[in-house]
Amino acid sequence: MKTIKTIEEMQLTQDELHKQQKSIGFVPTMGYLHDGHLALIKEARKENDIVVVSIFVNPLQFNQASDLDQYPRDLERDEKLLIEEAVDYVFYPSSDAMYPKPLSIDLSLNRRGDVLCGATRPGHFEGVLMVLTKLFNIVNPNRVYFGLKDAQQVAVVDGLINDFNFNIELVPVPTVREVDGVAMSSRNVNLSTDERREAHHIYKSLLEGQQLIQASNWTRQDVIDEIDNFLKHTLSGQVDYVDCLTYPDLTREITEKHDIIIAVAVKYQNARLIDNIILTPSGDVKYRSET
Ligand code: AMP
Repeated sequence: MKTIKTIEEMQLTQDELHKQQKSIGFVPTMGYLHDGHLALIKEARKENDIVVVSIFVNPLQFNQASDLDQYPRDLERDEKLLIEEAVDYVFYPSSDAMYPKPLSIDLSLNRRGDVLCGATRPGHFEGVLMVLTKLFNIVNPNRVYFGLKDAQQVAVVDGLINDFNFNIELVPVPTVREVDGVAMSSRNVNLSTDERREAHHIYKSLLEGQQLIQASNWTRQDVIDEIDNFLKHTLSGQVDYVDCLTYPDLTREITEKHDIIIAVAVKYQNARLIDNIILTPSGDVKYRSET
């Protein structure tokens, strides 16, 4: 595996690979890798000649300085894991390389951005759009891999790829969970022992919501109230949002034709956790992991 730190080298490398007719699978990450990231990488490994993983903690998408400061980092450990997964290149640019001078262009969302994390983390998705537009131009992949743990991000990236005609296939990968159901996240290390112990109730609350949808005669508000109530009785963390929307358009008018997302965010002392499930109109789980 080769670690590339400059944009120029990454661009020269992908150019050469395309000349050799190699397909490139790209997994953008912020590092501190866990099995969730590795599921994306394994998928990319299966479907492409070359796998590129980026590690870049993008300052633009953090709306709170403390969250950026507390974000865990360990390149050496990450590189070992990437070698084990037979990754070809890790792209590890500095902030100065990615943002050498003030940006001339802003990107903003017309759709899919006014709910969930888009509503509660102002500027977050604008930062995500900017870094991904840059990374897609630098890495020039054939396929990109994104985790459904960040389902709104998948919906937003789908919009980005379509609107800007990136010639890239978006591959969504199901959420990888710990044995107790907690969605794997780099931020989980910032939970206290007690917070980590109770966090499994977040996934449980989503399953409660699913049960309601599987029984007939539910309304969106019933699902939200049920989950909100469940979380307030089981968690010490503060519920940031609970919502039930169509997927991937993230609108409130749910008909029997729509796939549905139930999504939750919870704030703890040093970490904010998000989780979701995506269901078919009849309430079955839409995306299942193979393992
Ligand atoms: P991050 O490093 O948190 O920006 O995540 C990089 C990629 O890994 C994103 O596409 C995430 O959605 C994905 N990811 C993070 N956690 C998980 C998980 N538990 N299961 C599946 N994908 C994940």
